[in-house]
Amino acid sequence: MRVSGTVQDSIVDGPGLRFTVFTQGCPHGCEGCHNPQTHDFNGGSETTAAALTAQMLGNPLTDGLTLSGGEPFAQAEACAELAEAAKAAGLNVWVYSGWTFEELLEKAGAEPEVMRLLRAADVLVDGRFELSGRSLDLKWRGSRNQRIIDVPRSLSSGVAVES
Ligand code: SF4
Repeated sequence: MRVSGTVQDSIVDGPGLRFTVFTQGCPHGCEGCHNPQTHDFNGGSETTAAALTAQMLGNPLTDGLTLSGGEPFAQAEACAELAEAAKAAGLNVWVYSGWTFEELLEKAGAEPEVMRLLRAADVLVDGRFELSGRSLDLKWRGSRNQRIIDVPRSLSSGVAVES
């Protein structure tokens, strides 16, 4: 998988102390994006879910894994492998996506790996970044349109349930 970078002890990408992976490659092109260096699908560097898992589990104080971007669902299979390893180790999993929960459900019809990643996620922060809805008061998200979604409850009910 291609990544832009990792942060070992993040406190800004979800609750607690988190291992954050910024995936490389994003198709959304949101105006005002804070991570434009993550857009190029040929940029960043190549690694594997196994290597990232070893890095993630190297710190026993880590509470959770956050997959950010870039667009994690553009590399859903490798991200799912990493997320499943996090769950197996008792860590919680947050995933950021420019696609909405509803769009991801639609994608999952043709791409089973999208559903695999959704099933491994506890929380999805969804939707493109909208400059007009930006606020520094928002916790865990960049713009007001984005939602913090309880993924297990949303998958069992079939509609997005915000947490
Ligand atoms: S989805 Fe995220 S990384 Fe991609 S362009 Fe939008 S803000 Fe930037």
